[in-house]
Amino acid sequence: MSNLKLLSKILRLKGMKITAFEFVDRNRELHLSIKPRKNGCRCPHCGRRGRIVPARREGRVWEDLTIFGLKVLLWYCPKEIECRTHGRVQEEIAWAARYSRITYRLEWRICMLCQLMTQKAAAAVLKMPPSTVSDLLQRIIARVRDGHAIRGLRTLGADEISFCKGRKFATIVYDLDRACVVWVGAGKGRQTIDRFFNECLSEGQKRRIRWASCDMSRAYTEAIKHHCQNATLVIDHFHVTKALTEAVDEVRKEEWRELGTEQRKSIKGLRWLLRMHSAHRSKRQTRLLNRLRNSNRRIHRAWVLKDEFAHFWGYSYKASAENFLRRWMTAALRSRIPSLRTFLGTLREHLDNILAFVDRNLTNAVGEGINRIIKIVKNRASGYRGLHNFSDMIYLVVGDLDIPAQIPSNLYSL
Ligand SMILES: [Zn+2]
Repeated sequence: MSNLKLLSKILRLKGMKITAFEFVDRNRELHLSIKPRKNGCRCPHCGRRGRIVPARREGRVWEDLTIFGLKVLLWYCPKEIECRTHGRVQEEIAWAARYSRITYRLEWRICMLCQLMTQKAAAAVLKMPPSTVSDLLQRIIARVRDGHAIRGLRTLGADEISFCKGRKFATIVYDLDRACVVWVGAGKGRQTIDRFFNECLSEGQKRRIRWASCDMSRAYTEAIKHHCQNATLVIDHFHVTKALTEAVDEVRKEEWRELGTEQRKSIKGLRWLLRMHSAHRSKRQTRLLNRLRNSNRRIHRAWVLKDEFAHFWGYSYKASAENFLRRWMTAALRSRIPSLRTFLGTLREHLDNILAFVDRNLTNAVGEGINRIIKIVKNRASGYRGLHNFSDMIYLVVGDLDIPAQIPSNLYSL
């Protein structure tokens, strides 16, 4: 076996032939002159073969995967061809994207590593400057997502996240059926979500959305009602429970402010206890709460109402669920607790959409799960400065298209 053949076998360069090799920079770099075995002279736009045009050609270089700490660079002079449709173009390169300076398989590795670790760590593994990795990643993701359209969206979820140390916000739209992120946009509120509906979905796509889930903020509910006429909006049950828990906590805070130092002792340590779901409480904790009946009736009343409300999520018939909810609302109204009244106001406003939960137990749980992953991504980089880098990472890790799979690396096995 000749040296060139051996080298080609070791590097697994398929579909191309090594014509020469050279060690450069005190054996730290391996430069290979290559040429495609077949399928050359194809137009990058239409894939048809074209006539070679004599031109002054310049050699181009592509960085490939590093082997044993040895940087591998591929050299080749792309031919210029005359395509019948597209005119004079440079031939398509099989091992790399059009303007890319790295091979597909290096792109693939960068994506895989960045999914698993921080860009900085990936840069250390790849022995590249972190800025280069970030730059390359940005280009890969931009290329893969360019012209990408959202497909088959039936169940939509919307939520907001914070980044940049909680100072900036982004709106995230999920496909809850496929458990992925379809869109990330800067800002929160009506304008942002409107941008998603106007720019990313066609009228037909909007009509095909059957279910939607979001929190109780007007920006989202009204935008969804406006754009998706056929969708049933279900208020996310986490957000309803959260609002109720906050209302109960408000009662505790009020009492705390009003009571004297001595009396405060009786309601000490209730903060987390009141938040707890009844299923997670120990017997001792429940006894502690029951004791409130004698020591602080208001908090006790609020707590009982909160615990009762949890039964709502177990109903499977809409009529009985509605009955229950109306009875609960009357009881809450009778309690004469101001913060609960505020909660009742929100409840009444979204009643139909909360009741829709009975029809389909749709929650943003999938979205919350994705948010957890996003939080890990965020923490890994200890906060992103701009949304651009952050949304790139979101698309890479939990996006609606598997980015590494979109890179044609099957030509050259890894
Ligand atoms: Zn062409």
